[in-house]
Amino acid sequence: MASKVERNFSELFQGFSKLDREERLARLQEMGALSGEDVRFLRAGAHVPIELAEKFIENVVGFFQLPLGVATNFEIDGRSRVIPMAVEETSIIAAASKTAKWVRENGSITTEMRGHEIIGQIQIAKVSDFGHVAELVKLHEQEWVTAANRDVAAGLVSRGGGVKRIDVRRVERGDGKAMAVLHVFADPCDAMGANIINQVCEYLKGPVELATQEKVTMCILSNLVDSRLTRARVEMLGLEAELMERIEEASLFAQQDPYRAATNNKGVLNGIDPILIATGNDWRAVEAGVHSYATRDGRYRSITCWKREQNRLVGVFEAPVVLGVVGGVTTLHPTAKLCLKMLQVKSAEELSRICAAVGLVQNLGALRALTTVGIIEGHMKLHIKNLTLGAGALEREVPFVQKRLEEILSLHKRISLSNAIEVLKELRAERARELP
Ligand code: NAD
Repeated sequence: MASKVERNFSELFQGFSKLDREERLARLQEMGALSGEDVRFLRAGAHVPIELAEKFIENVVGFFQLPLGVATNFEIDGRSRVIPMAVEETSIIAAASKTAKWVRENGSITTEMRGHEIIGQIQIAKVSDFGHVAELVKLHEQEWVTAANRDVAAGLVSRGGGVKRIDVRRVERGDGKAMAVLHVFADPCDAMGANIINQVCEYLKGPVELATQEKVTMCILSNLVDSRLTRARVEMLGLEAELMERIEEASLFAQQDPYRAATNNKGVLNGIDPILIATGNDWRAVEAGVHSYATRDGRYRSITCWKREQNRLVGVFEAPVVLGVVGGVTTLHPTAKLCLKMLQVKSAEELSRICAAVGLVQNLGALRALTTVGIIEGHMKLHIKNLTLGAGALEREVPFVQKRLEEILSLHKRISLSNAIEVLKELRAERARELP
């Protein structure tokens, strides 16, 4: 039986998109996702002092604002979540919320993390004898791990993380010779860990050069973190056989054709990037990790896979989604801090698993639409608002132009900015004729 809190969430999410902003804020407060202070901050426009921007980046001239919304109806690993999303693209939040409701009513979302270590790379561009270097690395591994944990990563060690091991890889140079690349594996606990692992690698440069008598050419983390993978699984029961087959076919298309895979994965990241932005995380790092992992067998493929298993449709997402709930600007940017609170996450692992789940659900929504009504219907319906504003409609003209564009869309199945401009022109001409 659903707990009181869970029941409360689904009730409070009912009709959420139809509410005005004040009512939405009140509902989120009732759910415990926002405090009174949070509500006042958002109501006042989530204003962040410019002095803070000066601390984040260089040559500051202002702030760039994105809309912040919440995706509703998500129940992940049996727990209801409010999902904050900062994004400019119409229909992402609507599609996520609608699909999450469909999943809540017909299936389940489970997630897990496989491995916890991030990777730092130490490159020796030209090795005279790779085998000898590899032996020396193994000989000194424990000593270097201990020293790095003592001198650089003591904070992580005290939290149960820190540097765990060091491997060495042979990478062909393409000129018949090889480079040696040391991989330093560390558990960054609740940080994304880029700065920490970079410092560890820089620290190890001296000892590595001393022991190997080789020149270290650079030290930097890798964003292809295949040692810290996040998985999400969606199971859907009771769907029509034909729909399941269509979604399976669409998934095969994205597995086999890189042109389709690119757009499929963009759709998955539609669910992930807005959460990363809302929580102050480095979305470029996650994008790089996801795309490089999608190419792990030498060919760019879909990062999700949907298959029929007896009477169920099962979807899986697996990729590195390396992020933090501390570090970077996650706890410095007031809106990011608020969004982390709204998600009620306590660890980086929890947030990463939520991102994977939302990405997979977003993908399911897109595949369902693409294989049934097509993407235009939902997307363009919502995009009409942007077209209306883009055409230059004034506040009082918006409802009329929107209504007329909806009619054109349902009649012709397509719509563009020129339609909006035309409709607005007609409206203004009509109004001018009506004037005495
Ligand atoms: P950070 O440099 O802010 O370090 C995190 C700090 O949090 C550490 O000092 C750590 O001791 C502390 N901490 C407190 N509580 C902790 C906990 N529970 N778990 C772990 N650490 C805890 O942040 P970072 O995560 O090392 O680096 C992230 C930043 O690095 C991001 O801003 C990212 O944009 C940037 N970056 C990314 C790349 C890349 O992805 N290629 C490269 C360079 C820098």
